[in-house]
Amino acid sequence: MDLTNCPQCGKLYVKKIRETCDVCYKEEEKQYDLVYKFVRRSENRLATLLDTHHKTGVPEKTIIKFIHQGRIRVVGFPNFTYPCDGCDSPILDGRLCEGCKTKIQNDLKIEELIKTKQEELRSSYYTGQ
Ligand SMILES: [Zn+2]
Ligand SMILES: [Zn+2]
Repeated sequence: MDLTNCPQCGKLYVKKIRETCDVCYKEEEKQYDLVYKFVRRSENRLATLLDTHHKTGVPEKTIIKFIHQGRIRVVGFPNFTYPCDGCDSPILDGRLCEGCKTKIQNDLKIEELIKTKQEELRSSYYTGQ
């Protein structure tokens, strides 16, 4: 048996596929249900993350986790922003804002450029040009 401490409540539990113990898992499913039902209602289209937290009692952190997992979609909710993983600016989709996405893409491009340059150098060395 693979015993480990539940990251939510600290209790020992048998590690299976789940990240948390059964009690916390069930609790989180209940919370998911509350958030899901809340965002499904059309009158809540203008709700914010804070509103949802107040109305459902589910911690903001947990709501963001559901969004990151793709279980709750807030595209089409103009006010339902949550912090970007890179810089904390408010975003509505995925984990990163446009700025951080562009930055990562640029970083990748630079890396690729360096790689190509190194390969060019290497091949010119071997061919003696
Ligand atoms: Zn637990
Ligand atoms: Zn960002």
